Amino acid sequence: MRKNIVAGNWKMNNDLAQTESLLTDLKKQTKTTSAEVMVAPTFTNLYHAYEALRTTDIEVVAQNMHFAEKGAYTGEISASMLKSVGVNTVILGHSERREYFNETDELLAKKVDAALANDIRVIFCFGEELADRKAGNEETIVGNQIKNALFHLEAEAFKNIVLAYEPVWAIGTGETASPEQAQDMHAFIRKTLADKYGNNVADEVSILYGGSVKPANAVEIFSKPDVDGGLIGGAALNAEDFFAIVNAF
Ligand code: PGA
Repeated sequence: MRKNIVAGNWKMNNDLAQTESLLTDLKKQTKTTSAEVMVAPTFTNLYHAYEALRTTDIEVVAQNMHFAEKGAYTGEISASMLKSVGVNTVILGHSERREYFNETDELLAKKVDAALANDIRVIFCFGEELADRKAGNEETIVGNQIKNALFHLEAEAFKNIVLAYEPVWAIGTGETASPEQAQDMHAFIRKTLADKYGNNVADEVSILYGGSVKPANAVEIFSKPDVDGGLIGGAALNAEDFFAIVNAF
């Protein structure tokens, strides 16, 4: 059975003091579901968060990494550096990385390879823009994002991949895809995987939905059969809201 996962992406929010306060609040929350819980602080707060949460079952994950192992890449962070501070999962391909930092499918394929080679699990994000959806191209766009970055992998690799469908028009906008729109796309994603790798792989991969998930809409979104959890931005910055979403399963 595939896992349910709720991951909080803190993005470029929270300095050290604010991180400490959120971590303290998170430790006060009670989980009433079997969903795996993850939080993704900024690089500078990763180790601190790892230390603070090591006695809990909240996993600390990274928001990004570079594909090179080390060397002359000023300002970048490698997979082994993440591992050395207790991080075993990385978010790759977030639409903000694609849009503001020009991350292409080709670059993301290299990052995915580097993460997997270092035994780091990947939460691979993708999603169409509003214009794509208006033009009815959302499946083509999403299908290509998945194929271009992941279809060079062996089936075995998907044990360490989580997919996160995040329609760009729903991120940070308050506009959520309807539960039906999310389900339709997740079913398409699973079929795309099944066509290439077979039903066993497709059925085992967790597919998260992201984009304005809140306590008020999480239950309905998570009730859809192909939605296995959420990647949460804004609502993950408040521990109570975040756990209301975690406990929506
Ligand atoms: P949001 O962000 O929940 O604030 O829309 C989601 C994300 O970017 O992962």
